[in-house]
Amino acid sequence: MKIFSILLCLVLSLASPALAADRQIVASVFPAWLLLRQVTRDVPGIEVGLLLPAGTGCPHDYSMTPQDRRTLARADVLVINGLGLESFLGESGRLSGLMKEGAVLIDISSRVDQLLPEDDGQSGHGVNPHIFASPAMMSRMAVSLAVQLAQHDPEHASLYEENGRRTAERLDALAADFAALGGRIAGRGVLVQHNVFNYLARDTGLVVDAMVQAHEGQEPSAREMLDLVRIIREKHTAAVITEPQYPARTGRTLAAETGIPCISLDPVASGPSDAPDDYYETVMRGNLRILENTLGTKQ
Ligand SMILES: [Zn+2]
Repeated sequence: MKIFSILLCLVLSLASPALAADRQIVASVFPAWLLLRQVTRDVPGIEVGLLLPAGTGCPHDYSMTPQDRRTLARADVLVINGLGLESFLGESGRLSGLMKEGAVLIDISSRVDQLLPEDDGQSGHGVNPHIFASPAMMSRMAVSLAVQLAQHDPEHASLYEENGRRTAERLDALAADFAALGGRIAGRGVLVQHNVFNYLARDTGLVVDAMVQAHEGQEPSAREMLDLVRIIREKHTAAVITEPQYPARTGRTLAAETGIPCISLDPVASGPSDAPDDYYETVMRGNLRILENTLGTKQ
C-alpha cells in the first residue's frame, strides 16, 4: 500500500506541469544532429534528440514511421538541413498537424550562402542540399544554427554564439586542410555516386566529371554505363568515389573497366547513434587521408 502511494505520488509529480520539462530540440537528420549537439553544448533546460534513425543516410526517398511522428509531435523545436533534403516532411515544408502548437522550425540553410545548383539531371528544388558533406559549408551552418537558436532562446544567446563560433573555427581548420590538399593533387576529375560530394569537391578543388546515379535509386542502364566509361576516358577522370550509404558495385565496375582507382568517402549523411562529439571531424579527416593517398602528389 505504501509503495503504491509512493508510486502514485511519483506519477502525479511527473504529470504535473509545475515540474517544467526540458525543451525538446530535435534535429531531422544525423549531420544536423551532430551540429546541434555542438552548438547546444552546456545549455541548460534543453534536451537534444534525433528524428530519423542515425543510420538512415540521405533521406531522399524516406517516409516517416509512426515512431518518427511521435518524436516530432513531442518536439518544441525542429532543426532541419533544409534545401529540400527533408522531403518526407511534405512538399510545402509546413509542419501543421505534425508538430504541437507553438513549435518552432529552424532551417539551418536559411542563412547559408555559396550554395550550388542541384546538378543531378532531375527537376527539383534547384539547389544541391548536401551542404553537410563540406566542412566549409558546415562551418557556415554552425553560425546559422547558433544565431537562430539565440533568437529563439535569448536567455542563453551568448552560450549558443560562443559554441557556434568555436565549432565554426574547428570546421574552418578542417576546410583549410582540404583546400591545402587541393594545391598538391595530380588529377582533379572524379566520378561520384550521387550529387552528395559537390560541395566537398569545391572545398578541395576537385571537378565532378559525372554521376553514376543519374536517376534516384536506379542503377545505370548498359547504355549509360558505356557513356560513363567514355566520359572517364575522355576527361581522364582520376578516381571513382563511392559512398558507404549506397552500393558500390557500379562504381567498382566502372573503375575496373577504365583502370582508375575506386575509393569510398563518407559524406557523414549517417553514423552510429552513439557517435562521439568529434565524429564529423574524425570521418572527414579519414576522407582527407584517402584523397591524399589516391590523388595527392609527393612534395
Ligand atoms: Zn543525397
